Amino acid sequence: MTLVLATRNRHKLAELRAILHEAGLTEEVLDLDDVHVPDTRETGVTFAENALLKARAVAAATGKPAIADDSGLAVDVLGGCPGVFSARWAGSHGDDEANLRLLLDQIGDVGPEHRAAKFVCAAALVWPDGREVVEIGELHGTLTYEPRGANGFGYDPIFEVSTADGPRTTAELAAADKHAISHRGKAFRSLVAKHLVAGA
Ligand code: IMP
Repeated sequence: MTLVLATRNRHKLAELRAILHEAGLTEEVLDLDDVHVPDTRETGVTFAENALLKARAVAAATGKPAIADDSGLAVDVLGGCPGVFSARWAGSHGDDEANLRLLLDQIGDVGPEHRAAKFVCAAALVWPDGREVVEIGELHGTLTYEPRGANGFGYDPIFEVSTADGPRTTAELAAADKHAISHRGKAFRSLVAKHLVAGA
């Protein structure tokens, strides 16, 4: 069986390839550089809908099972926002610095006890015959007042988790340490274990 990973994000591709490898899956793994599929508009209002939209488009275009994800940050005091709008919270898509600054300004007066947030990831697997499954992964943490750390991307510099060495932002963690606890790692590992390894 050949699988197609429906993302152009290098961080996600590396993480997902590692998870497939760890699970002993030896399928040929293609990505969007190997197949020709028009970009999908993310018109869904939930992470699961958007992940399914991307995976369906790739499965339909290639005739092969496709894996896609959609993810973002949900802040308690903002009622779950930025949510599916995480990548374009400050207006233009993918401006990580502007998104993070706007969020810090919005909750500047909010005390430490009310700064809980979570990263959420929906990982979808769609087969060309129409079967589809979604798994959700979450990572809970709190938001800092200032960015810290140089790793990762997006909101990592302001998202703090407790570790054996004390509180760390996910931008202060090595990639492998973040992947071991991340929303994306959890969602992908669950998808692979329940629907690829079990169904192999
Ligand atoms: P997408 O899943 O590629 O659409 O990502 C949506 C947005 O959510 C990203 O642009 C980031 O702003 C945010 N995001 C998702 N996952 C992470 C993460 O692991 N760290 C930091 N930000 C994230």
